[in-house]
Amino acid sequence: MDRDLLSLIEAWDGNGVVTRFDRPTGTWIFIALHDDTLGPPAGGTRMKVYPALADGLRDAMRLAEGMTFKWAGLGLKFGGGKAVLAIKQPLEGEQRRGLLLRYGALIESLRGAFCTGADLGTSAGDMSTIAEACHHVLGIDYGSRTSTDPGPYTAHGVLRGLQAALAQSFGSEALDGREVLVQGLGGVGLPLARSLARGGARVLLSDLDDRRVEVLKQELGCESVAPADVYSTPCDVYAPCAVGATLNPRTIPTLACKAVAGSANNQLLEAEDAERLHQRGILYVPDYIINSGGALSFSLMAEGIRDEESLMREVDRVGTAVAEILREAAEADISPFVAARRRTQRILAEHRAPVDA
Ligand code: NAD
Repeated sequence: MDRDLLSLIEAWDGNGVVTRFDRPTGTWIFIALHDDTLGPPAGGTRMKVYPALADGLRDAMRLAEGMTFKWAGLGLKFGGGKAVLAIKQPLEGEQRRGLLLRYGALIESLRGAFCTGADLGTSAGDMSTIAEACHHVLGIDYGSRTSTDPGPYTAHGVLRGLQAALAQSFGSEALDGREVLVQGLGGVGLPLARSLARGGARVLLSDLDDRRVEVLKQELGCESVAPADVYSTPCDVYAPCAVGATLNPRTIPTLACKAVAGSANNQLLEAEDAERLHQRGILYVPDYIINSGGALSFSLMAEGIRDEESLMREVDRVGTAVAEILREAAEADISPFVAARRRTQRILAEHRAPVDA
């Protein structure tokens, strides 16, 4: 085996990795199972061409660990897992379908030890294909064979988390008159911007896609900000809902907001950026907590809850979790990032039964 792969496996503290080579497409499949303290490992399936095989395995391991903290942050009954389909070149048509069906059969053979959903490079349609071969796809209604878009649930969780940040920063969670800059107007940013505007906030819109900005500007009567000006534009809350690593040593000194609360994954370039924000007095709501509304709703769907109103009500829990983390951070004068880590470690420790009890 590739030495880099062996080194990664030697160094990892996760439960294990299920590995398989899909000969017809030349794809390496890695299912990283990080932790099952709270329940079976669950996480998205990423499909991507990686420069080196070890990059794919590293991605699966890193993201699986992130999922352990994400599920635990809300005390949900799943563990951390993530799958990577490291393809040699983009796959379409029958080749893609064949890979997904064989991958689905592999998941089925694990008999519930891993559940999955869409991620970078895979779509809701891909999840429906995988679900033809296994019973462990989250967000699929196996009765009607329809898949659900997690975006609106994620957006609702971000809204509630953002309101918790307002309460901490301004003493009130009211949106009325608050200025929120939404970066990225896609599956999450679009419904978030609509909810914020409906709640009376002054929304500033930004996206690389000018057409998206224009359409929403017309609909909501908002102003827009050029992508290059996002980090220096004064606002109460910056809501990153596009790409990761927007909080870094270059952007943090220029930020002119009181709080950062958005859906994007991996917003910090490096862990030290949380401390940099804390030192600047900018409240940073940890991304993996505030963007967990979609994952939360999918876990509830797996328990049979499907009506929209009940799901949205449950997603309000994201706001409660964020409020608790921000309170703990303020009391201990630590960054919310550190407070969130402590909280999830506490929840995991409470559930870890001693082996010889
Ligand atoms: P999306 O692809 O539907 O939308 C992303 C939008 O961001 C697009 O309109 C794109 O044009 C825009 N964009 C890309 N780069 C940009 C940049 N540099 N500046 C401004 N705009 C830019 O994605 P999404 O589903 O809305 O997800 C947004 C973020 O939230 C991603 O980081 C995603 O990983 C994360 N997230 C999404 C969900 C979910 O339920 N969809 C859940 C958890 C986390």
